[in-house]
Amino acid sequence: MNPPSQKILRRGTSAPEQHDLQLAQVQQWLTARNTEMIASLKELVLMESPTHDKAACDKLCAFLATQFAALGGRVKIHRQKKAGDHLQVEFAGARDRKPILLLGHYDTVYSVQTLASMPWRESKGLVYGPGVFDMKGGIVQLMFALSALLNTGPLPRPITVLLVSDEEEGSETSRPITEKVASRCEAVLVCEPAGRGGALKTARKGVGGFSIRVSGVASHAGLDFEKGHNAILELSHQVQAVAAMTNLERGITLNPGVIRGGTRTNVVPSEAEAEFDLRIASMADGDVMMRKIRALRPVNQKCKLHIEGGINRPPLERSPRVVALFRQAQAVAAQLGFSLSEIAVGGGSDGNFTAGIGIPTLDGLGAVGDGAHSPHESLVAAEMPRRAALLAGLVVSL
Ligand SMILES: [Zn+2]
Repeated sequence: MNPPSQKILRRGTSAPEQHDLQLAQVQQWLTARNTEMIASLKELVLMESPTHDKAACDKLCAFLATQFAALGGRVKIHRQKKAGDHLQVEFAGARDRKPILLLGHYDTVYSVQTLASMPWRESKGLVYGPGVFDMKGGIVQLMFALSALLNTGPLPRPITVLLVSDEEEGSETSRPITEKVASRCEAVLVCEPAGRGGALKTARKGVGGFSIRVSGVASHAGLDFEKGHNAILELSHQVQAVAAMTNLERGITLNPGVIRGGTRTNVVPSEAEAEFDLRIASMADGDVMMRKIRALRPVNQKCKLHIEGGINRPPLERSPRVVALFRQAQAVAAQLGFSLSEIAVGGGSDGNFTAGIGIPTLDGLGAVGDGAHSPHESLVAAEMPRRAALLAGLVVSL
């Protein structure tokens, strides 16, 4: 039989109970700050940050840097020549544990002055504006989750925040930074928008892009018709062949998205080109598809094919480690009093890169809302504290 004092001691210090207590405090702290979170979101949305506008992006990056510094983070700005600067912030925690990476982007698909036609607006529990959902809401939730944790006790482990400026355009300049930072982390929690009904994203398709350029032989369409070899005609065969490789059951899609060629109707065209989007659910399928595409041969032997491109983002595959992370998130959500579902989506994110180098990655931990990249993009205001609590709780539980 244990003496009562030991019982009390055990009850008072057990790690799971401490987590429960902290989670309850975090939830309470966040619930009381819904209005502050919306105000903070409005501030970010009013600082428009389209991917290609370096000046606008840098301004927001500097603003975010001061916000994170005020929370006690060590800020590192990855200066860029053309793209906006990328923001990395380190929060110290128990040194014997690897950091958790909270990942996101602060660029949007909306050019400067979109606010004129798509203003910040609050109506019926929703807030509207460029980038509210993808993903300025996620950034605010991330910031408040950190703040809640710092206000309710020491961080259980180091936390790294990485917010990049070029995700919406393929993350060309940030990819090496994201992969390097993620490689020393225990897990990656991506604060991109949640899926329908608030679902977390446990699988994302890989994304590829390639072009087929046809060189034919030009001639006069009236005088020398038979001497010509029509590049547009040849390309039309190739477009059909590529489109036929789509396999919806396997999650493989090929989309001819851009086409150009020819100069005048009375000239047999010598040049034509098409650009394609390729999506795959597994990396193995990606390799198979790119081999098939590179093996395409001209139907008209007098035409030449020039094929360029490949896989840009590896798929985020639903590996056992991803599933384990999701189960953990479900358990935290249950403690917070709601249930969480999971979803597989076709779109890529920077989580594809971190999953691609083998770091367990869970995506969709950002805002709940609708209409990303559209004029009716919106966020559910009342979900912000709960989602921030989920993120904070997940960090503590890992
Ligand atoms: Zn996004």
